[in-house]
Amino acid sequence: MNRRTFLSTAALGAASTALYPLSSSAQRPKAGDTPSESFDPWIEIHAPNLAHNVREVSRAAGKRPILAVIKNNGYGLGLATIARQMEPLPEVDGFAVVKLDEAVTLRDRDVKKPVLLMGPFTTPDLSTLTARNIMPMVYTPIGADLERAAATLPHPLDIHVCVDTGIGRVGVPYTEAAPLIRDLAARPNVRIAGVMMTFTEDEAFDQEQLKRFTALTGELSSSGIALGRRHAASSYTFFQHDNAWLDMVRPGMILYGVFPSPPFRKGSKIDLRPAVGLKTRVAFVKKIAAGTSAGYERAYVAKADTWLATLPVGHTDGWPRVAAKGARVRINQRLYPVIASVSASHTIVEIGAEQTVKVGDVATMFDWNDGSRPEDVAGASGASVYDLLMHLNPLLPRYLMTEEK
Ligand SMILES: *Cc1c(COP(=O)(O)O)cnc(C)c1O
Repeated sequence: MNRRTFLSTAALGAASTALYPLSSSAQRPKAGDTPSESFDPWIEIHAPNLAHNVREVSRAAGKRPILAVIKNNGYGLGLATIARQMEPLPEVDGFAVVKLDEAVTLRDRDVKKPVLLMGPFTTPDLSTLTARNIMPMVYTPIGADLERAAATLPHPLDIHVCVDTGIGRVGVPYTEAAPLIRDLAARPNVRIAGVMMTFTEDEAFDQEQLKRFTALTGELSSSGIALGRRHAASSYTFFQHDNAWLDMVRPGMILYGVFPSPPFRKGSKIDLRPAVGLKTRVAFVKKIAAGTSAGYERAYVAKADTWLATLPVGHTDGWPRVAAKGARVRINQRLYPVIASVSASHTIVEIGAEQTVKVGDVATMFDWNDGSRPEDVAGASGASVYDLLMHLNPLLPRYLMTEEK
């Protein structure tokens, strides 16, 4: 569907799509509610695209299960919203987050599929994890603590062991991993549901890391130790090393429909469709004469007479300062360059000699349309697609675009 149909059907609350306002309260959304009529920026979540990406990733990964990474507020889309959209999809085996609070929130919001906490936790936190059936990621000798925490459970505590094969962050060093894994495997209350690693995304070294990992897991498996699923593949690895898909893939960014880096997009065999948009409305339009400046430190000086539009969106909303280095904003089907600088709450765009936009027109910083995709903004300005999504202000109103039943 093109943008015009989407927006007009949204405005009429009709036909093939519906937009639901999402709020952190338990308020029930009403079908046909439209995006904010106010000037405040808002975020749209494209639910059909999200589901499409999940199916597409599963297909391309030879139907391997997907451990969906939804950390950092679901990459900016909204943690509970994303979990709720993905949970019914059979391709999604479970969810991974980094913050304890996010893991707990998922359970408090009734998410039932497995949840892996990839971030740190304290010994007392273990009772929070066991009470909510959250799997900890383990890489230190805490077997005794795990056993104690698991003692109250009617079943063993599922854990994933994180092995550092060269990235140097968390994880037991691969040279010391075998004794730790043997110790954990020997504990009756503990079950190893997975063994995982993270690549450095250095093309040649990744293969060395993979060798270290498969040597370790191969040796342990052949000595009869059950390791659960081996997983390593983030979005980058998904494209770069298909021999690293192992038993389960662990992507984030591609599920949201965004290519992690430009070479992967070009000629890609996988069809990713961005599932998120950042929009606002034109707040002010004015004409300035050649030689007139705009923005802090007079960062822009008009070469010719031109119309300028001010958008009430800025870096506090997650629209990065670097957008002024070449990003273009879509208004009424046309792309206009961001000029001067992006300040906390304002963005200025150059409209040109004709007044082609007016106050109240919808301005799209990025969405799913070609030319306005997050990758297009990133490519034109040097922004990172990760920053574009993950820095979206959690307080902005969010609307869910769904297919009408
Ligand atoms: C964020 C993260 C991922 C997903 O990364 P993408 O590049 O978004 O696919 C996978 N594994 C770990 C450990 C992560 O922290």
